[in-house]
Amino acid sequence: MEVKRIPESTYDVVIIGGGPGGLTAGIYAARGGLKALLIEGAATASQIMVTDLIENYPGMPEGMNGYDLIERFKKQALQFGLEIRSGDVTAIGKAHQGDMDGWEVLTGAGSTFGALAVIVATGAYWRKLGVPGEETFIGKGVSYCATCDGPFCRNREVVVVGGGDTAIQEALFLTNFATKVTVVHRRHRLRASGILQKRAFANKKIEFAWNAAVDEITGGNFVEGVRIRDVGNPDVKREIPAEGVFIFVGLIPNTAIMKGLIDLDENGYIRTDNHMQTSTPGIFACGDCISKRLRQVVTACGDGATAAFSAQLYVDDVKGEAY
Ligand code: NAP
Repeated sequence: MEVKRIPESTYDVVIIGGGPGGLTAGIYAARGGLKALLIEGAATASQIMVTDLIENYPGMPEGMNGYDLIERFKKQALQFGLEIRSGDVTAIGKAHQGDMDGWEVLTGAGSTFGALAVIVATGAYWRKLGVPGEETFIGKGVSYCATCDGPFCRNREVVVVGGGDTAIQEALFLTNFATKVTVVHRRHRLRASGILQKRAFANKKIEFAWNAAVDEITGGNFVEGVRIRDVGNPDVKREIPAEGVFIFVGLIPNTAIMKGLIDLDENGYIRTDNHMQTSTPGIFACGDCISKRLRQVVTACGDGATAAFSAQLYVDDVKGEAY
């Protein structure tokens, strides 16, 4: 049998992204015996790093903040031999690795890493409103995750900004805790699907501020309200008292570098099959950057484990070592 050669520096798999999906892929890849490198963003942190309390991750009844959870993931991954480097990946390209097909992953700092397989776990970031007070009150009443922060709004009045599926679904969820949820939407009707609209209109805790744009989020140490203006008549302004402001004006997946290399959906998310295989053999994806319904730590971890397992089968195949 012909022996295929591979440079010593080539990794079996390079994982891009240091959030829950990427790190779980790293744990599984390294534990599975792959020579694995994870490149975590130098300029951007995973969304989870700024999440104050995660209390819906199974097995942790006491909850944990996002930073500590990620540190634990890392510790576990390092124990299994995952190599972790910091860097911002700027490009991925096809590149032979010795006698085998493979990839070249480039970072902004000028480093190049060869790999037989790549797992993309670059996540997504919340589209911001860009109004005064938004940044100031993140973690102090401004939130981009009702599942995470809704329970802190028990018996309080909150504002939801946005009119899409996420905003309306999350507004409905927030009625489990809040006394009143005011949905501030810049149009006179919702973008959300009919069934969600119907449920929202039937819910007595939900009120709507139509044709309204947020000018400012106000408060002292914590959020106290939202200043809005009428879109059609900017002189008409008012303030809505609120102790929580949930902003759901869309997510932006971190997939710009993947354009042209793999299929993305109409919102820029990576299309994968059930095995986390993208449209391009040898490139797998997991976590918030993929096209799916529920973006949570637990789903990112599941995706990550599957991506690593699929990458392992792929690498074995490329090496001619498939069982
Ligand atoms: P989306 O559909 O893009 O909706 C974003 C909403 O935010 C829109 O109502 C938009 O207003 C508003 N918006 C955007 N920029 C704004 C700004 N600067 N100021 C004020 N409002 C702004 O995003 P999404 O709701 O997160 O949903 C993303 C995708 O996931 C969609 O395809 C959605 O169907 C899907 N999804 C599905 C479900 C479900 O099936 N249950 C649940 C969640 C999400 P306009 O309407 O004026 O553009």
